[in-house]
Amino acid sequence: MSKLVWLRNDLRVVDNTALLQACQYRQASEPVIALYIATPMQWHEHHEAPIKIDFIQRRLVELRQSLAALNIPLIVKEVADFAAVPACILALTQQYQVGHVFCNKQYLINENQRDLRVGEQLASHSIKLSVFDDDCIIEPGRVLNKQGDPFKVFTPFRKTWVRVYHDQVASRGVPLVQPAPEAITDIDARDDDVIDDRSRSFVTADLHSPSALHFSYPVTNSIDWAVDDEAIRQRLLTFCYEKAMNYHANRDYPAIDGTSCLSPYLAIGALSLRQCFHTLMTEYPECLENPESGAFTWFNELVWREFYRHLMDAHPKLCREAPFHDWTKFVRWQNDENHLRAWQQGETGFPIVDAAMRQLKATGWMHNRLRMIVASFLTKDLLIHWQAGEQWFMSHLIDGDMASNNGGWQWAASTGTDAQPYFRVFNPTIQGQRFDPKGEFVRKWIKELKDVPDKFIHSPHLWLGAHTLSYPRPIVDHKQARLLAIETFKRANEQG
Ligand code: FAD
Repeated sequence: MSKLVWLRNDLRVVDNTALLQACQYRQASEPVIALYIATPMQWHEHHEAPIKIDFIQRRLVELRQSLAALNIPLIVKEVADFAAVPACILALTQQYQVGHVFCNKQYLINENQRDLRVGEQLASHSIKLSVFDDDCIIEPGRVLNKQGDPFKVFTPFRKTWVRVYHDQVASRGVPLVQPAPEAITDIDARDDDVIDDRSRSFVTADLHSPSALHFSYPVTNSIDWAVDDEAIRQRLLTFCYEKAMNYHANRDYPAIDGTSCLSPYLAIGALSLRQCFHTLMTEYPECLENPESGAFTWFNELVWREFYRHLMDAHPKLCREAPFHDWTKFVRWQNDENHLRAWQQGETGFPIVDAAMRQLKATGWMHNRLRMIVASFLTKDLLIHWQAGEQWFMSHLIDGDMASNNGGWQWAASTGTDAQPYFRVFNPTIQGQRFDPKGEFVRKWIKELKDVPDKFIHSPHLWLGAHTLSYPRPIVDHKQARLLAIETFKRANEQG
């Protein structure tokens, strides 16, 4: 019987629990097969970005090679949506005489339901499905407060996370990062009797070309992001060796290359969070005891990622488009379509907002400080529902990730747990002056402002030469918009 590893958001061979377990469970002469199922209709529903899908396609081609070196063929299938997945897997289990399917858990509702249906379908044919917790360093449900409930506030979550982590290391003694499985050597990968179309690893003919994959989904080029294991490893090492120590000082300045830019790899699981944490701890073993350090600050961000995943798991309503705080359902959003369009296109007249939005459109990535600024601007200055921003981000980000994106948007919109209080509204001009003081980032993305003196770069409409600029005036008055936002949230709070 064969073992089937169903890959989803874990496109890697190193530190992949399901893959390792499949290889460990196999008996002599049993093949291990890997499977990836593309679901374009589902991706449309989830607003997946074309650049992210291109990135996945390229990563799968790379992964096929890494798996082939382990003597594990990769089958890539395309079906419409999650509903079609159980039948697809069942057919493959019959085609390849699979007795046991392995995968890593995703902590989202649609994905969970899909897995339940797959499990039922397989069970009715006496095929086992094993699902592993792999996406977090500490799995959801294990970081709890004294009452045994999930945390709603980040700092106590992080403190308990550290305690649980130390306990886990002491009691389990498992290495933090698992190596790639050893290559299978007791079967011949070219033996057509073992797997009949093994030579055609990408079995669905219309997806297949020797060096590329083409799913039925629009794509935009992600070539600026290398997808090979060595490049990803080097990016992580370079960050930890050269940048982590100054992360706390540099991370808020978009003109400085001060963050890791690893989020796209984490989003598709080309890299695990454990690999990030392990590399950090190897380089800075004392970092958890030194909260002032750059390394600790980076660690803190890694734990934010865990926090949002634990929240999603504990509060499924977050997957169902609900705010964390019910009273925020009463906020009377203005949802002005012209304002939304101006925000999306980077035409609001607030340079730091516009530069960030143009960066997102052009590259599929945005700096964290800028994500906070543009999200605050949309939800407070423009009083547009955070879901409009969440969706726009998801459909443009190469690192689009449901848990982190939802968490980030609800944080900025003051609808989430441990969010920015609603009465604290970012001033986009001051944010620009503080975090892009010379306007380097703004000038890079807004060519119209290249001649504006530094003093006016974040308020070009006040410059004497403003009439020469082909750049919009601010679409709202921040002072008034701020007061209106606070009043609107206050009223909603009283109502709720
Ligand atoms: P680094 O600063 O190097 O941090 C390392 C890693 O820690 C990141 O790659 C990421 O996995 C994690 N991380 C860092 N900050 C956060 C955070 N605030 N929340 C959760 N995880 C974090 N991140 C995504 O990966 N996908 C998203 O779709 C996403 N949407 C966001 C939307 C909004 C409105 C906001 C405010 C934040 C969002 N983030 C999202 C979080 C954060 O902005 C990005 O993870 C970060 O900018 C990625 O850059 P980096 O890899 O250089 O991060």
